[in-house]
Amino acid sequence: MARVRLENVCKSYDNSEHMAVSDFSLEVQDKEFVVLVGPSGCGKTTTLRMIAGLEDITSGGLFIDDRLVNDLEPKDRDIAMVFQNYALYPHMSVFDNMGFALKLRKRPKEEIAAAVNEAARILSIGHLLDRKPRQLSGGERQRVAIGRAIVRHPKVFLMDEPLSNLDAKMRTQMRAEIIKLHKRLNTTFVYVTHDQVEAMTLGDRIVVMKDGLIQQIDTPQNIYDTPANVFVAGFIGTPQMNLFHGARLVLAAGDYYVRMFGREFLLPEEKQQILKGKGAAEQAVIAGVRPDDFELTAGGSGITALPDLGEVMGSEVILHVRIPKEGVGIADLSEAEGVVESDDENLNWVGAVIVQKGGASGSTEAVSILPDASKINLFDPATQANLLL
Ligand code: ATP
Repeated sequence: MARVRLENVCKSYDNSEHMAVSDFSLEVQDKEFVVLVGPSGCGKTTTLRMIAGLEDITSGGLFIDDRLVNDLEPKDRDIAMVFQNYALYPHMSVFDNMGFALKLRKRPKEEIAAAVNEAARILSIGHLLDRKPRQLSGGERQRVAIGRAIVRHPKVFLMDEPLSNLDAKMRTQMRAEIIKLHKRLNTTFVYVTHDQVEAMTLGDRIVVMKDGLIQQIDTPQNIYDTPANVFVAGFIGTPQMNLFHGARLVLAAGDYYVRMFGREFLLPEEKQQILKGKGAAEQAVIAGVRPDDFELTAGGSGITALPDLGEVMGSEVILHVRIPKEGVGIADLSEAEGVVESDDENLNWVGAVIVQKGGASGSTEAVSILPDASKINLFDPATQANLLL
C-alpha cells in the first residue's frame, strides 16, 4: 500500500525568488499511475526528486501513507527511482548492477540472486546478466535500470523520462512494457515526461505543469476533451487544437451558440447546462476545435476553406487550410506567404488544421468544413480558462 500526497509543496533553489515548483497539491492513490507532463523547465523533475527525497522541500508537506516524510532520508522512504540516463555502474555486470541495492543492505546472497532472477524474468533480460552495461543496447540498458528498481520491491516507483534516450520504435515498445510492468507489480507509479503522447498512453491520471504550476489534473480523456485552459489545449494532442480568437459566445432565446466565421453553432445540452449554471453572459471567446472534429461537407454547405498543404499520413491527410474571415470571399484571400497556421489580425484569413479521414485527395480546391459543435471548447480571452469547466 502506498499513497503519496503533496500538500501545497513549493521549491525554490537557493531560496531565490524564483519558484521552481509552486503550491503543488496532488494525491496519488495506491497503485495509481500518475504522469507529470509539461515543457522543459516546468518543474517536473524537481517535483519527482522532492518525492524521492533527493531535493529539500522549501515549504508544504509530503506524505507517504499519511506519514509526513519531508525530513525522512531517501533510503528510508521505500521508493525507487529510474533516471533518464540509467546511471548504471559501468564496471559491474548486469547482475551486480541489479543486486547492488540489496548488497548494500547486506541481504544474503541467495535472496539477492532470487530477487535479481525474478526481476530479470519479468523484464526478459535473463540472458544478459553476465554482460557489462557497455555491451547492451539502449533498450536493454533501460530494462536493467528498471530491473535495479524492481529488486527492491519499493512501495513507489518514480521514473524520470526513462524512455527519452531510445529511438522512436523502441520507445513505443518500452511504453507498452511499462504499462504491463505496472499491472504486474501492482504498485504506485509517478512518471515524468515532456512527451504528451507518453503521458496520454501511460497515465491513469495526468498532471499538466507549466512554470512550476499545476495547470490541470485529470484522466487523459478528460484532459483531451476539456482542457482547463489555452495552454493545456495547445500542449495535449497532435496536431494541436485549433484556437479561433475571433469567436463569440452568443445567447439567443435562452440557448448558447458559438459564432465564428459568420455562422452560429448551437452548443450541446450538456454545455448549455454548464454555461447556464454559471450564468455566462455573451462575450468574446477563443473557440477550440480539434483537427479531428471537423467534417468535410458535400455541396459547400459548411465554412469555406482553402487547403494550402496536405500532409499524407496513409489513413488520413492533415490539411492546413485558410479560412476567410467574416465577409471575405475566397477569391480575396491575402497570400499565406509560407505561413499556413496563423492568427495574425492583419490577415483576412485564419489558419486551421483539419484531419481528413481516408486517403489523399491532393486537391487544393476550396473545401467546405463544419466543426462538430458538441466538441467545441470555449476559452476566456482574458483569463485563458475554459468556460466549460
Ligand atoms: P526538463 O524537462 O528540462 O528536465 P523539468 O520540467 O523537469 O525540465 P526542472 O528540472 O524541475 O524542470 O526545473 C524547474 C526549474 O528549476 C527550472 O527553471 C530550472 O532551471 C530550475 N532548476 C532545476 N534544478 C536546479 C538547481 N539544481 N539549481 C537551481 N535551479 C534549478
